[in-house]
Amino acid sequence: MFNVAIDGPAGAGKSTIARRVAAALGSIYVDTGAMYRAMALYLFRKGIDPDDAEAISRECKNADISIDFQNGEQVVLLSGENVNDYLRTPEVSDMASRTSVNPFVRKKLVELQQKLGRQKDVVMDGRDIGTVVLPDAQVKIYLTASVDVRAKRRYKELLEKGMEADLAQITEQIRERDERDMNRAVSPLKQADDAVLVDTSDMTIEEVTDRILEIIKEKRERL
Ligand code: C5P
Repeated sequence: MFNVAIDGPAGAGKSTIARRVAAALGSIYVDTGAMYRAMALYLFRKGIDPDDAEAISRECKNADISIDFQNGEQVVLLSGENVNDYLRTPEVSDMASRTSVNPFVRKKLVELQQKLGRQKDVVMDGRDIGTVVLPDAQVKIYLTASVDVRAKRRYKELLEKGMEADLAQITEQIRERDERDMNRAVSPLKQADDAVLVDTSDMTIEEVTDRILEIIKEKRERL
């Protein structure tokens, strides 16, 4: 297997970049954030309080989450229902950030992710891919950008989708999510020792994609 792990904070451009890199390599793009979001949607629909750790630990075990690939795109199925269209709302984003700290939620989804990494060449993005999920990935990238740049990107993304957005609120949410992602006890977001840091604040999508393909090429030549 040839696996590429891309980690970094919310809004660093991971999914856009990972999708392009996967297409260039002929690999499968695996979006692990979408799995945490699907779990959050499941818990949300069950009316679970995001602060009730016990209820989350109990209920997450019953969530039937699976992954399918249709026309090269990852589809997340919740009890067989394609829930891709429900994963990007602010409510689900907030619930995902809160419930992904739960060790039982993480255990269940990490197992699913590791299985995919064993079966296929993947470009997988998330927070703990290089450190926990695929520690043996051939290439590890830590993608980041300043809080302001990341907030502006999310803001634009929501407006383009015709959704309402408030830049100050998004900036605050990103700060909160960084805080939770980086300081949780289980699998906190951090750069793996062998990951290459790419700061995308002043780079275009094309520049970032090219840079990562270059890193992969260099690594392949040394393997
Ligand atoms: O990347 P995305 O914003 O879609 O992730 C949604 C939430 O899932 C994040 O707030 C993060 O806390 C969590 N997550 C995680 N580990 C991953 C991927 C996402 O904890 N590997």
